[in-house]
Amino acid sequence: MKKKLIAGNWKMNGSLAANASLLQAVLEGSQGMNCQAAVCVPAAYLAQVQAVLAGQSLIALGSQDVSAQEVGAFTGEISAGMLKDFAVRYAIVGHSERRQYHAESDATVALKAQRALSAGITPIVCVGETLADREAGKTEEVVKRQLAAVIHTNGHCISEIVVAYEPVWAIGTGKTASPEQAQAVHAVLRAQLKAATEHAERVQILYGGSMNAANAAELLSQPDIDGGLIGGASLKAADFLQIIAAAAR
Ligand code: PEP
Repeated sequence: MKKKLIAGNWKMNGSLAANASLLQAVLEGSQGMNCQAAVCVPAAYLAQVQAVLAGQSLIALGSQDVSAQEVGAFTGEISAGMLKDFAVRYAIVGHSERRQYHAESDATVALKAQRALSAGITPIVCVGETLADREAGKTEEVVKRQLAAVIHTNGHCISEIVVAYEPVWAIGTGKTASPEQAQAVHAVLRAQLKAATEHAERVQILYGGSMNAANAAELLSQPDIDGGLIGGASLKAADFLQIIAAAAR
């Protein structure tokens, strides 16, 4: 059976001291658990977290973004090659906060996924509808459009990505998609992947949006939910560990 993946997205949170104690608790508490886990940390802390995670394979290192450019005069950008220097295994691309606050288009997100893949980094491609989209009955149309751009640009490499379904209305709001709502969208995404690759079953499709210790087990029991992308709850070791434990069952 495919292992589940629980990836924490720390967003713009942390400090050298806070990261050290969070990671120590997560590393200690996750010993022996049968699940893949990752922490996607602010770029400023990649070196620190790389050093703390060295020599173990339970928790992988991730970034929260990657540049769509390869190299050159792009002030403030961080390339996939640079991330690779820090042994980054996963890069979140197309998070709704990037799409919203940095006006990232579907085409840019697709290019970012391509840059990550060519550097040997697994992109965690986020897709998700806003509340207005959902209320207008456009959920399926929106997530399919977002994923289609990534499929179009990445061709046969598409089986190497991770997808995260993150309804925008559920991110950081405490409102979670019900297991049935989430599974319905995951099934749509799986079918879209199946039309693009014969390896669609091995693509991990994560759910993200106020997943927490209390609701994780039910969400993760859905047939097409292969893990979680966790924001707020990844900043509290006990909560993150309970989610990892739910995924390891
Ligand atoms: C996220 O930012 O990817 C996320 C899912 O956040 P939260 O868990 O806080 O809703």
